[in-house]
Amino acid sequence: MKAFIIGRFQPFHNGHLAIIKHILEHNEYVVIGIGSAQLSHTIMNPFTAGERYLMILNTLENNGISNYYIVPIEDVNSNPMWVAHVESLTPPFHRVYTNNPLVRRLFYEKQYEVLSLPMINRNSWSGTRIRQKILKGEDWRSDVPDTVYNIMKDLDGINRISDLSKTDE
Ligand code: ATP
Ligand code: MG
Repeated sequence: MKAFIIGRFQPFHNGHLAIIKHILEHNEYVVIGIGSAQLSHTIMNPFTAGERYLMILNTLENNGISNYYIVPIEDVNSNPMWVAHVESLTPPFHRVYTNNPLVRRLFYEKQYEVLSLPMINRNSWSGTRIRQKILKGEDWRSDVPDTVYNIMKDLDGINRISDLSKTDE
């Protein structure tokens, strides 16, 4: 089977890598959608689609994984049209892995097989939690693959997130 997952990957962390490995044990390939691709430089969405693309690509290459496609997907302001929008951008897939209730509902209504996966080590492996840790100066290095840590350092990502949390007041 050919599978699909979507996330914002702000940043790509160990939980994302674990679910991709799990999916590939059961499927021929996985299409990885980078959601809200148009967003960057906000506290919830600090990284561009291109930067997130690089995090995913380098990490999967480093883990010897080659049966995947990465597709940036911008938001559309119409939920009924969203699945067709995704289909217009991606290689074919028949099975969707998601824990997001809206994503689940939209694909289910278009007759896709929709599966959920257990959250792994969610206290630490969460984009929101990692962004919080960065702001508080806490250790987050072990929550992301080394490739992601290095890319975020190269991008000055830690200072970027810190700057995005400030105001001009
Ligand atoms: P944020 O807190 O910014 O929403 P996130 O960690 O939820 O970040 P997303 O980019 O929203 O990451 O994740 C996309 C999908 O990856 C989620 O819908 C979820 O199904 C899966 N996922 C995220 N973290 C984990 C985890 N720790 N274990 C298993 N699956 C996860
Ligand atoms: Mg999320």
